[in-house]
Amino acid sequence: MSLQIRYFGDPILKEMGQKVETFDEQLSKLSSDMLDLMHRSEGIGLAAQQVGIALQFCVMEVPEHPDYPITCILDDKPLTPSLIMPISMANPIVSALPSDEYYYEEGCLSFPGINADVARPERIRVTYQDLDGIEHTLECDGLLARCIQHEVDHLNGILFIDRMEKRTYAEIKKEVQVLKKQTIGEKKSK
Ligand SMILES: [Zn+2]
Repeated sequence: MSLQIRYFGDPILKEMGQKVETFDEQLSKLSSDMLDLMHRSEGIGLAAQQVGIALQFCVMEVPEHPDYPITCILDDKPLTPSLIMPISMANPIVSALPSDEYYYEEGCLSFPGINADVARPERIRVTYQDLDGIEHTLECDGLLARCIQHEVDHLNGILFIDRMEKRTYAEIKKEVQVLKKQTIGEKKSK
Protein backbone atom coordinates (compact mmCIF):
# COMPACT_ATOMS: atom_id res chain seq x y z
CA MET A 1 0.00 0.00 0.00
CA SER A 2 1.38 3.39 -0.87
CA LEU A 3 1.66 6.11 1.72
CA GLN A 4 -0.75 9.00 1.91
CA ILE A 5 -0.49 12.35 3.64
CA ARG A 6 -2.70 12.71 6.70
CA TYR A 7 -4.37 16.08 7.12
CA PHE A 8 -5.23 18.10 10.19
CA GLY A 9 -8.26 16.57 11.89
CA ASP A 10 -6.74 13.09 11.69
CA PRO A 11 -6.06 12.05 15.31
CA ILE A 12 -2.73 10.39 14.39
CA LEU A 13 -1.19 13.88 14.08
CA LYS A 14 -1.66 14.35 17.82
CA GLU A 15 0.02 11.08 18.74
CA MET A 16 3.40 10.75 20.35
CA GLY A 17 5.69 8.58 18.22
CA GLN A 18 7.08 5.30 19.52
CA LYS A 19 10.81 4.90 19.69
CA VAL A 20 12.45 3.27 16.65
CA GLU A 21 14.03 0.04 17.97
CA THR A 22 14.71 -1.91 14.78
CA PHE A 23 16.95 -0.60 12.02
CA ASP A 24 16.17 -2.92 9.15
CA GLU A 25 15.05 -3.06 5.52
CA GLN A 26 11.55 -2.07 6.55
CA LEU A 27 12.81 1.22 8.02
CA SER A 28 14.89 1.94 4.89
CA LYS A 29 11.84 1.25 2.76
CA LEU A 30 9.70 3.57 4.91
CA SER A 31 12.40 6.24 4.58
CA SER A 32 12.53 6.06 0.78
CA ASP A 33 8.73 5.88 0.46
CA MET A 34 8.39 8.94 2.69
CA LEU A 35 11.03 10.83 0.70
CA ASP A 36 9.23 9.97 -2.56
CA LEU A 37 5.95 11.26 -1.19
CA MET A 38 7.63 14.37 0.24
CA HIS A 39 9.25 15.19 -3.12
CA ARG A 40 5.99 14.61 -5.01
CA SER A 41 4.22 16.91 -2.57
CA GLU A 42 6.97 19.54 -2.88
CA GLY A 43 7.71 19.55 0.82
CA ILE A 44 11.08 19.81 2.58
CA GLY A 45 10.23 17.59 5.55
CA LEU A 46 7.87 14.77 6.46
CA ALA A 47 7.22 13.05 9.78
CA ALA A 48 5.95 9.49 10.28
CA GLN A 49 2.72 10.75 11.88
CA GLN A 50 1.97 12.57 8.62
CA VAL A 51 1.74 9.23 6.82
CA GLY A 52 -0.27 7.59 9.58
CA ILE A 53 2.52 5.97 11.61
CA ALA A 54 3.15 7.07 15.20
CA LEU A 55 6.92 6.63 15.20
CA GLN A 56 9.94 8.78 16.16
CA PHE A 57 11.05 9.04 12.55
CA CYS A 58 11.23 11.82 9.97
CA VAL A 59 12.85 12.68 6.64
CA MET A 60 14.02 16.01 5.24
CA GLU A 61 15.62 17.55 2.21
CA VAL A 62 16.31 21.20 2.79
CA PRO A 63 17.49 23.25 -0.20
CA GLU A 64 20.34 25.71 0.09
CA HIS A 65 19.76 29.28 -0.89
CA PRO A 66 22.81 31.43 -1.73
CA ASP A 67 21.36 34.36 0.23
CA TYR A 68 20.63 32.26 3.32
CA PRO A 69 23.59 29.97 3.98
CA ILE A 70 23.15 27.17 6.49
CA THR A 71 25.87 26.32 9.01
CA CYS A 72 26.05 22.61 9.56
CA ILE A 73 28.34 20.65 11.92
CA LEU A 74 27.87 16.88 11.89
CA ASP A 75 29.69 14.94 14.61
CA ASP A 76 32.06 17.90 15.16
CA LYS A 77 32.87 18.22 11.44
CA PRO A 78 31.70 21.34 9.59
CA LEU A 79 30.27 20.44 6.21
CA THR A 80 28.09 21.64 3.37
CA PRO A 81 24.45 20.81 4.14
CA SER A 82 23.88 19.31 0.69
CA LEU A 83 26.30 16.50 1.63
CA ILE A 84 23.91 15.15 4.25
CA MET A 85 20.71 15.52 2.20
CA PRO A 86 18.32 13.87 2.10
CA ILE A 87 18.45 13.13 5.80
CA SER A 88 16.51 10.52 7.77
CA MET A 89 16.32 10.84 11.55
CA ALA A 90 15.24 8.22 14.04
CA ASN A 91 14.63 9.14 17.68
CA PRO A 92 15.76 12.77 17.30
CA ILE A 93 16.08 14.99 20.36
CA VAL A 94 16.41 18.72 19.82
CA SER A 95 17.91 21.30 22.13
CA ALA A 96 18.21 25.00 21.40
CA LEU A 97 21.70 26.54 21.27
CA PRO A 98 22.20 30.11 22.51
CA SER A 99 20.60 32.19 19.75
CA ASP A 100 17.72 34.54 19.11
CA GLU A 101 14.25 33.36 18.27
CA TYR A 102 12.94 34.64 14.98
CA TYR A 103 9.68 34.50 13.07
CA TYR A 104 9.41 32.67 9.80
CA GLU A 105 6.43 31.75 7.68
CA GLU A 106 6.01 27.99 7.93
CA GLY A 107 3.86 25.64 5.96
CA CYS A 108 3.03 21.98 6.59
CA LEU A 109 2.01 19.19 4.22
CA SER A 110 -0.77 18.29 6.68
CA PHE A 111 -2.19 21.84 6.30
CA PRO A 112 -2.25 22.36 2.52
CA GLY A 113 -2.25 26.00 1.48
CA ILE A 114 -2.02 27.30 5.05
CA ASN A 115 1.08 29.30 6.03
CA ALA A 116 1.78 31.44 9.07
CA ASP A 117 4.59 32.84 11.19
CA VAL A 118 6.11 30.76 13.96
CA ALA A 119 8.91 31.86 16.32
CA ARG A 120 11.71 29.35 16.90
CA PRO A 121 15.37 29.50 17.98
CA GLU A 122 17.86 30.13 15.18
CA ARG A 123 20.44 27.51 16.21
CA ILE A 124 19.90 24.00 17.49
CA ARG A 125 21.63 20.76 18.34
CA VAL A 126 19.91 17.50 17.48
CA THR A 127 20.99 13.99 18.41
CA TYR A 128 19.49 11.21 16.32
CA GLN A 129 20.12 7.76 14.85
CA ASP A 130 20.56 7.14 11.14
CA LEU A 131 19.03 4.25 9.18
CA ASP A 132 21.75 1.92 10.52
CA GLY A 133 21.04 2.92 14.10
CA ILE A 134 24.29 4.90 14.38
CA GLU A 135 24.05 7.93 16.66
CA HIS A 136 24.92 11.40 15.40
CA THR A 137 24.97 14.93 16.69
CA LEU A 138 24.13 17.72 14.30
CA GLU A 139 24.44 21.41 15.04
CA CYS A 140 22.84 23.72 12.53
CA ASP A 141 20.95 26.94 11.91
CA GLY A 142 18.77 28.60 9.30
CA LEU A 143 16.14 26.73 7.33
CA LEU A 144 17.57 23.33 8.31
CA ALA A 145 17.24 24.10 12.04
CA ARG A 146 13.74 25.42 11.38
CA CYS A 147 12.72 22.30 9.48
CA ILE A 148 14.17 19.90 12.09
CA GLN A 149 12.26 21.67 14.88
CA HIS A 150 9.01 21.51 12.91
CA GLU A 151 9.44 17.79 12.12
CA VAL A 152 10.56 16.77 15.60
CA ASP A 153 7.49 18.53 16.98
CA HIS A 154 5.35 16.25 14.78
CA LEU A 155 7.02 13.20 16.36
CA ASN A 156 5.80 14.43 19.72
CA GLY A 157 2.28 15.20 18.49
CA ILE A 158 2.89 18.96 18.37
CA LEU A 159 1.74 20.93 15.33
CA PHE A 160 2.86 24.32 14.06
CA ILE A 161 -0.52 25.82 14.99
CA ASP A 162 0.28 24.88 18.61
CA ARG A 163 3.38 27.11 18.40
CA MET A 164 1.66 30.15 16.89
CA GLU A 165 0.84 33.31 18.71
CA LYS A 166 -2.88 33.72 19.37
CA ARG A 167 -3.31 36.61 16.98
CA THR A 168 -1.44 34.75 14.21
CA TYR A 169 -3.63 31.71 14.70
CA ALA A 170 -6.74 33.91 14.64
CA GLU A 171 -5.85 34.88 11.05
CA ILE A 172 -5.87 31.29 9.77
CA LYS A 173 -8.38 29.77 12.20
CA LYS A 174 -11.22 29.63 9.67
CA GLU A 175 -9.12 27.79 7.08
CA VAL A 176 -7.91 25.35 9.74
CA GLN A 177 -11.47 24.61 10.86
CA VAL A 178 -12.61 24.04 7.27
CA LEU A 179 -9.72 21.63 6.76
CA LYS A 180 -10.55 19.75 9.96
CA LYS A 181 -14.21 19.36 8.98
CA GLN A 182 -13.20 18.12 5.55
CA THR A 183 -10.75 15.58 7.02
CA ILE A 184 -13.29 14.25 9.50
CA GLY A 185 -16.00 14.14 6.79
CA GLU A 186 -13.76 12.13 4.46
CA LYS A 187 -12.92 9.65 7.23
CA LYS A 188 -16.61 9.06 7.94
CA SER A 189 -17.50 8.50 4.31
CA LYS A 190 -14.84 5.79 3.94
ZN1 LIG B 1 4.41 19.71 9.31
